[in-house]
Amino acid sequence: MKRKVSIETFGCRYNRLESAEIAYELEKEGYAPVINGDSPDVVVINTCTVTGRSDAKCRAAIRRAKLANPQALVVVAGCYPETNPDEVAMVKGADIVVGNAGKHKIAQALGRLNGAGADKAGRGDTAPTGDMLVRPITRMEGRTNAYLNIQTGCDEACSFCVVRLARGKSRSARPQEVIAQVNRLARAGIKEVALSGINVGEFGKGKDEGLARLIEGILGATKIERIRLSSINPNNVTDELINVMARSSRFCRHLHIPLQSGSDTVLERMRRPYTRKEYEELLARLTGRIPDIGIGADVMVGFPGETDEEFNETLEMIESSPVMMLHVFAYSPRENTLAFDYPHPVTKDKRKRRAMILKELSAKLSRKMRERFTGKTLNVLIENERDREGYLKGFTDNYLPVKLQGSDATLNRIVPVKMISSNDSRLVGAPLEGSSTPVINKEQSPGGSLE
Ligand code: SF4
Repeated sequence: MKRKVSIETFGCRYNRLESAEIAYELEKEGYAPVINGDSPDVVVINTCTVTGRSDAKCRAAIRRAKLANPQALVVVAGCYPETNPDEVAMVKGADIVVGNAGKHKIAQALGRLNGAGADKAGRGDTAPTGDMLVRPITRMEGRTNAYLNIQTGCDEACSFCVVRLARGKSRSARPQEVIAQVNRLARAGIKEVALSGINVGEFGKGKDEGLARLIEGILGATKIERIRLSSINPNNVTDELINVMARSSRFCRHLHIPLQSGSDTVLERMRRPYTRKEYEELLARLTGRIPDIGIGADVMVGFPGETDEEFNETLEMIESSPVMMLHVFAYSPRENTLAFDYPHPVTKDKRKRRAMILKELSAKLSRKMRERFTGKTLNVLIENERDREGYLKGFTDNYLPVKLQGSDATLNRIVPVKMISSNDSRLVGAPLEGSSTPVINKEQSPGGSLE
């Protein structure tokens, strides 16, 4: 009988996709996923360490897993053991501890253990080098869209960041492997692929194959209906990339560009490789070439020494920008980072207050963006499942959430939708009667489109 495995995932989308890779590797070695309340023989906890709170949640999950399944081996994998293997090894219930490279070799670690004892080597199995592997995963359970990790690691040195310590140097997948995987996903019925990485803009670094060229390659060699980028640093948004986006109706008009702060003095302390002016110039270039582009940004509040004036600079910059949505984070001190020892910490109360102000601003900006599109027709990728109220739901290519009434025939298809109104969180639309041909809303380049 096959041994049963369950996987619990914490953290980012990158980690979620890696959990699918863990499942793929374990199934190849004869393990089966837990279904219908079976008791697992193995529980994998794929951890995140981005804040102190993430660590605490992972520790609680380890204890909970052991308590609920005393007979199972609990494997703790990923960023938390990568940065702090000794602390993880001490958590009651952790039987096997592996870092980030080790998470793809869990079957071997289980084999070594042969059902008993403990293996808490943690970080010893890491420091991967060479190209990153793309695993041929196509089981996306009824999904219309899929993430594809094309890059890992990071060569920047942001002073607050523990992720770069957990993920090592920048490495990329081979373009031909990425293209083959996009083709597999398209054949499996996926309509939209989001390319992701720890610092995806570093794709192909050191080789003659940057992100823009990869996307052109995907557009030319696959039939995938939409390509999206998950998040990209401002210093990596090149004119070449903007040109590809402007010319292709399949490359979504949406970028999530971490800002972190609108104050140059804070950016300098954060060791971010750009200034406020450079970020603003990038936004102007983007909206100049792609007027309806949807732009999101990460912002961190309460970085050590952040004064009221510096916070207000951020606030005022975002208020007057075309950004439509913010991911707001309160700074969390992480050991082994430069900022951990910075003076003048901002109080917890102030961090919370500043985060709240920016979240309110984000809601206002999103509403403004949705209202801009009321009355217009946009293409929506309709997801495979209706929402709880029975509405169809989906996203436009510039990342506006939409709900609408319509038939099941539109599930998992891109359809033109007339936007009627906007509620608190989504646009409300109606499919255009008798039309299933998506509208073209990109400029065509003088040299022809990329389609
Ligand atoms: S760019 Fe900065 S914040 Fe992002 S992973 Fe690299 S070091 Fe961390």
